[in-house]
Amino acid sequence: MSAVVFDGEEIPVTVVRSPRRRTVGITVKESGEAILRIPPNVTEAEALRFAQEKAEWIAKHRVRFAKRKRLVREYADGDVLPFFGRELTICRAEGKTVRAEIDKSTLRLTGPPGTDSAVFRDAVIFLFRREALRLLRPLVAEVSAAAGVEPPALRVRLQERKWGCCTPKNGIIINVRALLAPETVIRYLVVHEVAHIRFRHHQESFWAEVERLMPEYREAERILKEDGWQWVF
Ligand SMILES: [Zn+2]
Repeated sequence: MSAVVFDGEEIPVTVVRSPRRRTVGITVKESGEAILRIPPNVTEAEALRFAQEKAEWIAKHRVRFAKRKRLVREYADGDVLPFFGRELTICRAEGKTVRAEIDKSTLRLTGPPGTDSAVFRDAVIFLFRREALRLLRPLVAEVSAAAGVEPPALRVRLQERKWGCCTPKNGIIINVRALLAPETVIRYLVVHEVAHIRFRHHQESFWAEVERLMPEYREAERILKEDGWQWVF
């Protein structure tokens, strides 16, 4: 097994020969495993030297992925959940049926004793999807007006990876997880999808439109990339 060293720690690296590659590539999987892909004209020793230069980057990603695995919500009394740029504190109560409702800065979760946290999770997602439609519609209308397009039909879905999409019929879909993000990120996701109505690609003209609609979009994108994994139910 090959390895790189960072901060005194030996990080194992799996070496893969890739006949079709032209350059050395390093990826870190969610499991923390580092993969080094080598093209035919590069020796393993050369590739490992390259990997060693990137050791800090590899270590940083391993830490990021290791942190991710610890985030599991219990929906316990007193837990805090972000909600559209503010925070809700969970207040658990006993009742015959499972219910989730927002009352100012309280997220009230009612259910029979012993209700599984997964059941509350589903109830919260259902509530947040409804709230997302209510809260995002004015924002979609505002951004559409600025973009000079008809306000698109809005749908909200729970998705693992994608934050949003613009459908062929010019509807937009926003991930309900966006409600856990800071407001600037929520605005960016709406701006991004609304900009796709006129620019159905990621070329320069698209990004120019995004910047026109939201000059500070790069910062929102950076927060999304770095913190997005935490916005889970
Ligand atoms: Zn896009």
